[in-house]
Amino acid sequence: MLPERIPIPESLYSIETGDPIATCLACDRSLLDGPTEYLIEKGHRRYADYDVQETIFGYALCMECHATMQQSFSAPSKHRCQAYLSEHVDLAGRTGRLLDADSYDPADWTRQCVVHGTPREELEEYQVIAHCQGDTLLLTHLPLLMGGPAIDALVQRLSSETLDDLGGFRDDHLGLPPDLKRDLQGPIMA
Ligand SMILES: [Zn+2]
Repeated sequence: MLPERIPIPESLYSIETGDPIATCLACDRSLLDGPTEYLIEKGHRRYADYDVQETIFGYALCMECHATMQQSFSAPSKHRCQAYLSEHVDLAGRTGRLLDADSYDPADWTRQCVVHGTPREELEEYQVIAHCQGDTLLLTHLPLLMGGPAIDALVQRLSSETLDDLGGFRDDHLGLPPDLKRDLQGPIMA
């Protein structure tokens, strides 16, 4: 069965340009006009005291670069993350329910933390990850939203080697300010 597709929503557009993200963060290949499949990941933080929400990072990574990055995960790290997710999340069941509605709403995929069910408005920090091809978003087990506590739980399951590798990826590509690096490890969810 072919996955459902919709135009990429503006919430996944580039922070810098306000347009769809055009190239892979790591290899720079162009994404919007070809058959290349890729992931978009965006990180958000809310500052409750100021009632401000900010997008901290957003990028696209082609599947090839994503696979390369995943190879840097140690086997125990990979295993522990997968075990955590399969213990807490039934992604196939969720996708079935979401697509089952007569007229499904793509926004339903990212209304709450996929692990804990916490509504997005109640999360101080969350990340969204989406699977795209060309200028379309695929509705599969992605997109999903993961809140800060679930991300922390995943990060705790990574080995120090894997964390070092992810930190290197983050430093090379994301250019985050130092006070954010502490909390954000880079892409771990896809
Ligand atoms: Zn790439």
